[in-house]
Amino acid sequence: MANSTIEVKFNQIFINNTFVNSVSGKTFTTFNPANKQKITDISEGDKADVDLAVKAARKAFKLESKWRTMGATARGHLITKLADIINVHKVALANLETLDNGKPYEDSLTDINNAVSALKYYAGFADKIHGKTIPTNDLNFAYTLTQPVGVVGQVIPWNYPILLLAWKWGPALAAGCTMVLKPAEQTPLTALYIAALSKEVGFPDGVINVVPGYGPTAGAAIASHPDINKVTFTGSTEVGKIIMEQAAKSNMKRVTLELGGKSPLVVFDDFNVDEAVKIAHDAVFSNMGQCCCAGTRTFVQEGIYDEFVEKAAKLASEMKVGNPFESDTKVGPLIDETQYSKVLNLIESGKLQGAKLEAGGSKVGDVGYFVRPTVFSNVTDDMRIAKEEIFGPVQQILKFKTIDEVIERSNNTEYGLAAGILTKNIDIALKFSESVDAGSVWVNCYLAVNPLCPFGGFKQSGQGREMGEDGLSGYLEIKTVSIKKHL
Ligand code: ADP
Repeated sequence: MANSTIEVKFNQIFINNTFVNSVSGKTFTTFNPANKQKITDISEGDKADVDLAVKAARKAFKLESKWRTMGATARGHLITKLADIINVHKVALANLETLDNGKPYEDSLTDINNAVSALKYYAGFADKIHGKTIPTNDLNFAYTLTQPVGVVGQVIPWNYPILLLAWKWGPALAAGCTMVLKPAEQTPLTALYIAALSKEVGFPDGVINVVPGYGPTAGAAIASHPDINKVTFTGSTEVGKIIMEQAAKSNMKRVTLELGGKSPLVVFDDFNVDEAVKIAHDAVFSNMGQCCCAGTRTFVQEGIYDEFVEKAAKLASEMKVGNPFESDTKVGPLIDETQYSKVLNLIESGKLQGAKLEAGGSKVGDVGYFVRPTVFSNVTDDMRIAKEEIFGPVQQILKFKTIDEVIERSNNTEYGLAAGILTKNIDIALKFSESVDAGSVWVNCYLAVNPLCPFGGFKQSGQGREMGEDGLSGYLEIKTVSIKKHL
């Protein structure tokens, strides 16, 4: 942008529209996962910084504040402006995202486009949130107010840093909330950049605050803060339980959780095999498998099983693994040492437990956290690779015979985030869609995530929904007002 005044300080915390040092003065380092090199030191926020951010957010939430008196239409326009400026800065943001996260550059651009769409979708909602008048049939006139829930704490993971920021900010801002976001410690850079952009487009002081830091310190301070009204979290089921507990024990703040998954993608033998192989491949290997709704359990009907396995292995072997800035790279590095070891360990468990390795199965060099796209066949439901969330580029292909059998096996998991089915038979598709325990069911496609559609989990994949009109409800309190009439 010409004459831009935008100032981003990657080594500071963003509170009250100002970049400041952490109270403790401590820092942590963010790394490039493609070469394990340090990118920069980041100010490490903890409880003291979260307290300051919450104070700023609380002040910005006061009824007489600029934010609350702005008017819903103007609030919507401001969100649109934020979406537009993110779009203007998308090349810089995509570079930064790929540097910090390791995902292929084209994927970073796609994430940013999706983030812009999510913000614009919710911008349109800002002045369409309203209550009802209620015919109580007595001497009272009653109506409801739909009010913003208040100060929202947001804890997000590293797999889609910009996209998930937008998923949290869009509905919170449309509803009129103020907020404190903690990006993942692995990927704090783009949130700080976007915070600076929000100041540039005119968000009032304190509406948006970004506090980088670790989970058990800064994240826990958000979940247990007595003056935060709602916490929204995306991450592991394990941490989701901790967040829920901290929320309950502190002030019973509202909680929305989007957690892990072990989603089934079921392929019937009436479906074109080549097309099915491609859909199933994208379902599991997108974002190096670091996707909560990845279709990692590929159930294939027995009639096409052998052909499917052969073609799936060939497709996985052909993917270029390497520098995420090169345009033909399909597979970048995993995020860090922890994930890398966990994924390699689960691959070994697959081999040991008797699954047949059809492709990949190993790391690629030692420069970065690269793992070869891996395909296992002859996978059975009791194997660790069929039960545990791997969060890496590893496809499990399981054989099935009938619809009833595959429904039961699909649901035989603690998770329930997403599911897919590929078939030309509408009755089978309908039966599966009604029976499967999943917040999203994709028929003859996969990963059809869209800001217009609610997204979230059954069972231990989460609590509440994000996106779509339903995604707004988590940011609103309903207040009933009854007025005595003197007629
Ligand atoms: P992942 O397995 O995807 O890394 P995590 O659930 O560990 O997911 O982390 C997601 C987010 O939760 C990150 O921002 C992380 O810092 C945060 N987090 C981790 N542990 C806690 C905790 N005990 N309390 C609050 N937030 C946490």
